[in-house]
Amino acid sequence: MSRDLERSDSRIGFMGGTFDPIHHGHLVAAESVYENFTLDRIVFVPAGSPAHKPDSRVTSARHRLNMTRLASESNPHFEVSSVEVDREGPSYTIDTMKHFRRLYGPEADLYFITGVDAVVQIPEWKNAGGLFEICKFIAATRPGYPTENFFRFRDQLPPKQRRAMKVVAVPALAISSSDLRRRVCRGSSIKYLVPEPAEDYIYAHGLYDCSEQDEAVRRPIAF
Ligand code: NAP
Repeated sequence: MSRDLERSDSRIGFMGGTFDPIHHGHLVAAESVYENFTLDRIVFVPAGSPAHKPDSRVTSARHRLNMTRLASESNPHFEVSSVEVDREGPSYTIDTMKHFRRLYGPEADLYFITGVDAVVQIPEWKNAGGLFEICKFIAATRPGYPTENFFRFRDQLPPKQRRAMKVVAVPALAISSSDLRRRVCRGSSIKYLVPEPAEDYIYAHGLYDCSEQDEAVRRPIAF
């Protein structure tokens, strides 16, 4: 039986992201949330077809799902759901969280976790009001993204939504997926930035070579 179908857990965090590729920043964020919010488990949910990136080049969902599985397999309280990859059309979080609410029942505490910079966009997401009825949110901090924007955003929310919006301070790891893609394209090392099985997968499948990257990525960084 898929662990997705275990319904006995009552406090579950859903880590949503494009994960192109997943990296240690995401994993450290997930572990921090697990610990700080005393959750029963964390479910990584790679976006199948990211709703907000219709025109950008995103690596195939299967590759991103496989890398996420490889990266999280050593942690017994991490698992990965393919619900968004298996679903047709844009990956709207409202559809995903409705699915998990049905699965875990009305009493479970469901938390949607994502980066502090992604969280401030939530009011623009499909049926954002409905989403607040289904789950709470946890914003993971990251270096380079001042939390003032997040707190300003949270202060403007109606009281019920404000209470549903949590933040977790993640140990500073200045890793980003876009930087990793640039590094692979330029032949720079990604060792210790990405879990080794995912790193091996990237090279074995020739992901993020320069043919997939746009001109801005191929250009060397000017210091
Ligand atoms: P993104 O715009 O690619 O990422 C925004 C920022 O948040 C990036 O700096 C990213 O860093 C960081 N980030 C993303 N996921 C993170 C995580 N789980 N923990 C810590 N940092 C994280 O956003 P995205 O990853 O595509 O989307 C985030 C989630 O929001 C996804 O589940 C997506 O489906 C959902 N979303 C839903 C809608 C909708 O329903 N209409 C619209 C937009 C987004 P990295 O680049 O290093 O990952």
